[in-house]
Amino acid sequence: MKKLLTLVLLTFFFGSQAQQWPMELLTHPEKTGYRETSTYQHVMDVVNAAIKDSQYAHLISMGQSKEGKSIPVVVMANPKVTTPEEAKASGKPIIYIQGNIHSGEVEGKESLQILLREILKGDKANLLDNQILLFAPIYNTDSNDKLEQGRRPSQEDSPIEVGERPNSQGWDLNRDGIKAEGLETKALFQNIIVPWDPALFVDLHTTNGVWHGYSLTWAPSYHTAGEKAPFDYTWDNILPTVTDNVLEEDGIYLGPYGYFYERREGWPIKSIYTYNHHPRYLVNQFGLRNRMAILSEAFAHERLYQRMASTYAFVREILEYTNEHGNEMVAVNKKAEEDAIKLVMEQAGKVQKGVRFEMVPLPNPVKKYRAYNYLKTTNENGQERYLRSREIIELDNVTNYSAFNPTVSSTLPRGYIIPADMADIAAHLQILGVKVDTLTKNARATGEVFTATKLEKGQRPFEGHNMATVEGEFSSSNKRFKKGDFYVDLAQPLANLIFYMLEPQSDDGLLTWNFFDAYFEQNNIEEKPVEYPIFKYFDLK
Ligand SMILES: [Zn+2]
Repeated sequence: MKKLLTLVLLTFFFGSQAQQWPMELLTHPEKTGYRETSTYQHVMDVVNAAIKDSQYAHLISMGQSKEGKSIPVVVMANPKVTTPEEAKASGKPIIYIQGNIHSGEVEGKESLQILLREILKGDKANLLDNQILLFAPIYNTDSNDKLEQGRRPSQEDSPIEVGERPNSQGWDLNRDGIKAEGLETKALFQNIIVPWDPALFVDLHTTNGVWHGYSLTWAPSYHTAGEKAPFDYTWDNILPTVTDNVLEEDGIYLGPYGYFYERREGWPIKSIYTYNHHPRYLVNQFGLRNRMAILSEAFAHERLYQRMASTYAFVREILEYTNEHGNEMVAVNKKAEEDAIKLVMEQAGKVQKGVRFEMVPLPNPVKKYRAYNYLKTTNENGQERYLRSREIIELDNVTNYSAFNPTVSSTLPRGYIIPADMADIAAHLQILGVKVDTLTKNARATGEVFTATKLEKGQRPFEGHNMATVEGEFSSSNKRFKKGDFYVDLAQPLANLIFYMLEPQSDDGLLTWNFFDAYFEQNNIEEKPVEYPIFKYFDLK
């Protein structure tokens, strides 16, 4: 009898298959047979139950949404930390993970609640041995609760109703990395990214519908004008290890993010293509910050419980990896930061860096690419058609368009001068963490000025913007600036991001997002060339 009792108790405590959770720690999908996703209140209830009496957790607010909801971030550490200063003093790497940037894509939100309870109340406290974790399960709070059926057709009504994609100001928060119009974006940078400085950022999504054969696809922060080492480390070390471990532990296939076009290219396809390199996508901005980031995209066509399983397994294995290798990652990031600063100090005015990019293949193809097979047939009009089969096959050596080469480059300056009357530009840079100074006396700068001959604006609005592009040329220049003008010394950690934002020809800079339209229009760009108001200096005296 005693033996039996011990066995029962052992099963209760150690058998993960028999894990017992009180109702208050269960997510709303678990309680509803995965037909419903959590509302903001459901998430807060689980978060509050999970952090109650926890010696590791501290709840902070990222900020307020437009509708007044506080965006929760749970800080987990052993021993507990409550401020960025304490976190820094601990010397541990910080990992930041967020769910629900797009409210229709819900499994990140649900999986983070499950991991939260397992770390704080279950058997995963070991994930706090060597790292500090910040979880923001519900980044886009307002739109999450505007539930409606049919918003995400590729998810096939699993769960039945989901929230809206944009935030309540109407912005797609994952196109907002440069213009930072969303209250959430400002809050994320000002209250989380800049003060806490995570070594890794993970953004959890659901993909839009390609029938690849993976339960989840991933992408690193793509390499453009930043340092390459954080990209290489993510691509060569983190992602392959995590992918292997999830397959071994969970029997779930993960693979590289990509679209393919079987109708256009025929079947079997020869290539996959990733999305984009622009730092308006939060994950991509991280590379320019000399930090690592991972985009997670659960396979839309699987049911919610499967998408939760794959997202959960992916995040769990990332955290296992970072718990073991976090210090190595911090060292890679730190070296990248030092390299970026060194390049400015030693090579300003001499080297060029890309400002516009095109997608090119990686040197190595995907050896075995998983995809649903397509059946070729001919319809009654004699046209060839591809119909998707139910079977997953492996395609050999598929070219992976996941690299970016510069098509336009520009000289790396020592810094930029922003006229005193453009305080809004200076303030905007500061939101993202850029150090901006003010000239305390008149100064003379040598460098380059960009003369714009044409300002082109997109015909169709995108995110409320008719995006701008300039044509023109740089020329050497020598100018006086007044006390009170702003200057940005590029010898600082965010050098690469500043360059991408302030270069006039950048494909995703402040000019792109209309910050200078009024200036160009007031100066009659329609009729005559106009100097771009940000001066690029090589030397400032
Ligand atoms: Zn998304």
